[in-house]
Amino acid sequence: MLQKAIAIDGPSGAGKSTIARLVADELNFRYIDTGAMYRACTLKALRANVDVEDEAAVTAAAESADIRLIAENGLPLIFMDGENISEAIRGTEVTANVSAVCRYRGVREAMVLLQRGYAEDGGVVMDGRDIGTYVLPEALLKVFLTADARERGHRRFLEWREKGIGLDMTEEDVIADVIRRDELDSTRELNPLRRADDAVLLDSTSMTIPEVCRAIIALWKEKTADVL
Ligand code: C5P
Repeated sequence: MLQKAIAIDGPSGAGKSTIARLVADELNFRYIDTGAMYRACTLKALRANVDVEDEAAVTAAAESADIRLIAENGLPLIFMDGENISEAIRGTEVTANVSAVCRYRGVREAMVLLQRGYAEDGGVVMDGRDIGTYVLPEALLKVFLTADARERGHRRFLEWREKGIGLDMTEEDVIADVIRRDELDSTRELNPLRRADDAVLLDSTSMTIPEVCRAIIALWKEKTADVL
């Protein structure tokens, strides 16, 4: 059965989370940041001093984490074991290790179960890497959002400077990190980053955020005109 959901996939720094959040607000849907969930698993493993190459230990750490996405005053927050970890998951150590952690089957199975559960509650905009291909294959609208790799790195660098994150990294470091994670995410065995056959490709390199949002909302209206 087709699902009242918008799946937004794409490489790091394409603007998925900003766009997904705005589209969700506009349509009164819930925003689900699946990257934040894999980051939470990574934080759990790092805090437990687990070697990220140890699949069994990382999986056990992820499975034992109580991860919840909660919207507070319109802000999407993530809690783990009762603690608000929304900022902690953006640190450079989590970012450097998340691609290693999220490649494990047990970690992905635990997160996908939660993600599908969120989508059962009503309209969702979910962003990630495998939402259209694996998590929500019946989503009514699938978008593959991309942009030139250097532009994505540049945007992420500016965003991090503004938020005071990764201050020890130069712009070239951030660009290199974005390219490295894309490579790991696209070549991993389980649910790699891939455009679903029925996903609409949007290249945001020379588009503004409101333009991308308008394009997605127009697509949603078009898709749902005769379904909902
Ligand atoms: O979206 P964000 O950059 O926060 O995601 C962090 C990492 O989580 C990505 O680099 C990717 O390795 C992983 N991820 C994933 N599947 C998703 C969402 C994120 O593997 N659905």
